[in-house]
Amino acid sequence: MTRVYNFSAGPAVLPEEVLQEAADEMLDYRGCGMSVMEMSHRSKMYDDIITTAEADLRELLGVPDNYKVLFLQGGASLQFAAVPMNLMKNKKAGYIVTGQWAKKAFAEAKLYGEAVELASSADKTFSYIPDCSDLPITDDMDYVYICENNTIYGTKFWELPNTKGKELVADVSSCFLSEPIDVTKYGVVYGGVQKNIGPAGVVIDIIREDLIPDECLPGTPTMMQWKVQADNGSMYNTPPCYGIYICGKVFQWLKKMGGLSVMKERNEEKAKILYDFLDSSDLFRGTVVAKDRSLMNVPFVTGSDELDAKFVAEAKAAGLENLKGHRTVGGMRASIYNAMPKAGVEKLVEFMADFEKKNR
Ligand SMILES: *Cc1c(COP(=O)(O)O)cnc(C)c1O
Repeated sequence: MTRVYNFSAGPAVLPEEVLQEAADEMLDYRGCGMSVMEMSHRSKMYDDIITTAEADLRELLGVPDNYKVLFLQGGASLQFAAVPMNLMKNKKAGYIVTGQWAKKAFAEAKLYGEAVELASSADKTFSYIPDCSDLPITDDMDYVYICENNTIYGTKFWELPNTKGKELVADVSSCFLSEPIDVTKYGVVYGGVQKNIGPAGVVIDIIREDLIPDECLPGTPTMMQWKVQADNGSMYNTPPCYGIYICGKVFQWLKKMGGLSVMKERNEEKAKILYDFLDSSDLFRGTVVAKDRSLMNVPFVTGSDELDAKFVAEAKAAGLENLKGHRTVGGMRASIYNAMPKAGVEKLVEFMADFEKKNR
């Protein structure tokens, strides 16, 4: 068996221990004679899996009791619609547009009400986070929306926007569980799990209870009504059982690693290795304003499309996979999520230094 260093932005690297454990349990989950994939979601066995997963997530993130945790389907993208459908009482919300995912959420919200662009970094290819200290937020807005870590462009909100008392809704797909957060600063935190937690398809919503409406916008599908999902413990229909089971294993792994403060230190250490190299290199350079750099997604370029392509191909041959940048940005991007070991980043930097020598 050969495992590569996988720098994919998502679906992305998972802890090897978790995959091994899932493999060991594939045919016979803890003596019950069947796979988790085959068991009823109403069984005692599965109830233990989802209950433990939720409890572990609450413990890791310090989720207060007045927040619901939902395990839903449809990925982060279905929540782009669910957010306005559940929260747009006044049919008006403010969006901070810092990349493709925020742009998509903004466009989706426009289908259901008045979505206002409060700030944007589109003028410089989303390479920075705009000043959000005094945004044109009006009293009739139902919420303020951000994408906290911009997976494609490699920027991160290191300071949350001043929402002037409005509820903050954050898509944290690509920084989920990469560091501790103060959940009470958000009305809704949600993310697709395939970046840092588990298999694609599952999305986790953490929602302050009083924001879960009795009634959504007319025509909201039952499955997208947060109240229905909350009242049914994420089991209004068959949940993505196997995906939730893997998420649960990742939560256990994170606890074993020492929790989110330890993960943050590890992530800072890994990112520093790569950013320090980029800052000292004569060939490669990072594309993001230094103060807004993400710890998870690191885009970089050589300045030549030809050299970029050569780099990606040669890196792949050396066991460093999925370094090609997003199709809308070009260049390279190294995603270094929780499960990427420090050795992987060190190997990447070594390879980059060697490539630089040979291609000067
Ligand atoms: C990947 C990603 C999405 C889309 O997730 P899906 O599960 O494919 O819908 C949304 N937001 C961010 C920040 C992402 O990184």
